[in-house]
Amino acid sequence: MSSRILEAYQLTASEKKIIDTHFSTHKDWEKSVFEGIKENLVNDLRIKQNNKCCYCRNELGYDIKAVDIEHILPKSKYEKFTFHTKNLALSCPGCNTSKGSKEVLKSPIKKYPRTGTNIIIVHAHFDNYESSIEIHSGSIYEGLDEKGCETIKQCKLYRLKRVHKKARKNLSNSSPIQQLVESLRTASDADKQLFINQMREMTNQFQGP
Ligand SMILES: [Zn+2]
Repeated sequence: MSSRILEAYQLTASEKKIIDTHFSTHKDWEKSVFEGIKENLVNDLRIKQNNKCCYCRNELGYDIKAVDIEHILPKSKYEKFTFHTKNLALSCPGCNTSKGSKEVLKSPIKKYPRTGTNIIIVHAHFDNYESSIEIHSGSIYEGLDEKGCETIKQCKLYRLKRVHKKARKNLSNSSPIQQLVESLRTASDADKQLFINQMREMTNQFQGP
């Protein structure tokens, strides 16, 4: 699986028509007439992004407001690219809110960029995430180059260490069974096998000889 989006969403002719008719400023993004297009975008990008946030790489949720369509070049500053599909990627609401409308370009543009050269953060369509950011222990983000450092800063990825710590603390207060289930997620194959063997033994005891 590539670490960047290889092909942007392809708008259909009828979707293009809806955009032509109803879009004039970035505020129109919220219009209900675009809901169908957004749904198609999300479904398409979930697959292309392996259902991961383009900035923190955490799993994207399925509930209301659990996933955002992120405008890589902020739509309030670069209005004409609001529906430019290369400018769109899925992010978690935490990263989207943290990034806000911060500047992401080195120098002004007229046309949408074709490479990541003029962009100071990791661009989901142009840049390979792993070349710029390494994630340690699931929540510690290391910038490997300037783009990586700037992405961590703009999206406040350092916040996730605290988020994971809270989650772990909450887990340690929960039932032993829940803790066991959680431990199994990250257990080694040997430990998983050990668990299966012990469960078999226990099941046999329940069932009797
Ligand atoms: Zn995120």
